[in-house]
Parts: sequence; structure tokens; C-alpha cells
Amino acid sequence: MECTVGTFSISKITFEDLICSYFGHIQNIKDMINLISDTVTKPSKEMLDVMFQAEVGDDVFRKDPTINALEEKVALLFGKEAALFCPSGTMTNQIAINIHTQPLDEVIAHQLSHIHQSEGGSYAFHSGVSVTLLPGERGKITVDQVKAAIKPEYDWTPRSTLVVLENTANIAGGSFYKKEEIKPIADFCRQNGLGIHLDGARIFNALVESGDTPAQIGELFDTISVCLSKGLGAPVGSLLLGSEVMMKKARRIRKIMGGGMRQAGYLAAAGIYALDNNVERLKEDHKKAKELANALKEVPFVENMRDVETNIVIFDVSAPHTAASFLQELEKHNILAVSFGPQTIRFVTHLDYSDAMHAEVLTYFRSLV
Ligand SMILES: *Cc1c(COP(=O)(O)O)cnc(C)c1O
Repeated sequence: MECTVGTFSISKITFEDLICSYFGHIQNIKDMINLISDTVTKPSKEMLDVMFQAEVGDDVFRKDPTINALEEKVALLFGKEAALFCPSGTMTNQIAINIHTQPLDEVIAHQLSHIHQSEGGSYAFHSGVSVTLLPGERGKITVDQVKAAIKPEYDWTPRSTLVVLENTANIAGGSFYKKEEIKPIADFCRQNGLGIHLDGARIFNALVESGDTPAQIGELFDTISVCLSKGLGAPVGSLLLGSEVMMKKARRIRKIMGGGMRQAGYLAAAGIYALDNNVERLKEDHKKAKELANALKEVPFVENMRDVETNIVIFDVSAPHTAASFLQELEKHNILAVSFGPQTIRFVTHLDYSDAMHAEVLTYFRSLV
């Protein structure tokens, strides 16, 4: 379809159309090397085959065997009692906030956290809570910061009831916590009656690097969000994990938010396939991200390259270059990325970013030296 900013037809809209309407001047996004996000992947033929063959039912009545199987599989993997399949990671995070809090409570999180930066402020809308935002290297917070952030119980202070950690931290550049860093925070929360939730949209990117097991991370949190549609390559889907009691509440809140799904087992089948096939290979994405960063570091106008720990590369360009001007140059070479500020650019590597594409991008970066 035509790619004109602001005007796209509603019928037959595809993901490319949406991105085209956002990057309105690009006519042939299908031929581009897309490093905008690890959400841009499409189901492989093998994944689609599994989806077509899925046994499905009405999940609002808990009669979709494939969703039940996915929920059981992921709960077991992280050592949790139960799981809930949801349309998005925003929904799993928002449900978690809702079941951990009462209106007027406060949530403690990093200032760059997805729940604050990228979920439309919806913790206030869905749950009537506020946030205390903490600074911290690479998107991570420490137990001392959490201790200092808890309010004394006066009539006029919000009640601090939930701590949210993000692993890997997205806006902070894909950095990850190891279990030893989380343990003191988890212990403090348990000792002081606070809930602790993990926004693990990219938890598998963290785990393949840290060597921690899902169960070791699972025991540190009350609830965990896991996304299937980021690095794992499924088209849709996230899971919330926790105790039976919490997931019973969560199921109700999901329905109230409009997230009760019917024959969504076709999507759950993609998730099962993704978990069975696309976890270990995340290391390849991390290797490519490091190679991109190393090549970019040699480019004279690239500065302040953030450490690459997983699949996210963030750096600044120096004047007279701007993020916008460099993105334009990249586009001329078939490469798409996003700006994270006037001088800041982000690349994300993923399953559909092939070796051949990688070679092409590296060749281009080397031509800039
Ligand atoms: C992508 C992401 C989410 C969930 O986003 P959805 O687009 O709603 O699936 C949550 N947390 C982090 C850190 C993310 O990167």
C-alpha cells in the first residue's frame, strides 16, 4: 500500500504498513534491513506449520489445550505455580501492578523502566498508583536505593508496596542483572512485605548471558512477565507467572482489561515453538550486536557507545551529525534503526537479521571509517 505519513487505510493493514506510516517516506520496507526492534520478526515456516496444527478451544472457559500447555510449560520452567497467557507485555506488567497494589500505593522502579516510560502512564489509569523512580547505572537499582525509597507510614505518604525490576533493561541498553544482584532486593522485599515483580520481556536474553536458570530467577520474584514476541520470534504473546492465588486474580483483571482471548491457541503454539527452538540462539544476536558496536566505535562521528551486554546497541553521533541525519544515511543503505534522542540511535539485533544482512551492515559501517 501507499506509505504516506498519517494516512493509511484500515483495511488490509500489515505491520509493514504501520511502520511505513511511521517511516512514511520509505516505500519498500520489506527489502530493508530492519534493526528497529526485536519485535519485527515474522513467524518462520516451521513456526507457522506448528500454529496451523494447533488444537484450540475457548480460553475464557480455559478450554484451549495449547494455551493450557504453554502456561504449564512456562510456569514449570520458572518454578512458579501458574501462568497466564496475555496479548502483550504491557498487559502482563499492568496486571501485575494491579494485583500487587491498592489505589494510592506507590511502585518503586528505575527511571528508565518500561512500566514508566513506555506504558502510557497506565499504572495510574488501571491501578490508581504512583511511582517513585530511581536513577542507577545501566537501568539497574540496588537494595540500598530501595531501602531509602520506602516511605515512613505517615497519613500523608503513599504506601510503598511493589518493586519492579527490568531484566534485560531496554532503554538502558540491554543490560542484565545476575541473580546475586537481585537476591538482596528480593530478600528485602520479602522481609518488609513488599511485592517484587520482574519485567522480563527479554529475560531469556539475560539468562543466556548470565548462565542463571529460569528457576533461579523465578524464586526471587512474586510475579514475572515473559514476552514471546521479542527475541524469541513469536508473533504475539506474553505470559504472567506467579502463585495460583495471584494468577486467579490476574485472570479476572485480564478479562476486565479486555484481554480474555478465545481460540488463541494458534498463538500459544507459536510461543511453544519459540521456547523450544529460539532461546539458545539468542547468543548469536548478542554476538552480532557486539560486532556492530565494535565496527561503529571506529566511525569518527560515533561516540559514547554504551556497553553491549545483549542484543541492543545504543550510541550517540557527534555534531554536525544528528540522529535524524544518520538515520537518513542508514536508510539510503537499506538499514532501519530508531533514534532514542536528538543525537542517540538504537539498533536491536534479532532472529530475522541474517548473517548476509549483518555482513552488509558491517561493510557499510567500515566504509565510514
Ligand atoms: C517490549 C517490552 C515490554 C512489553 O511491550 P509490549 O509491546 O506491550 O509487548 C515490556 N517491558 C519491556 C522492557 C519491553 O521491552
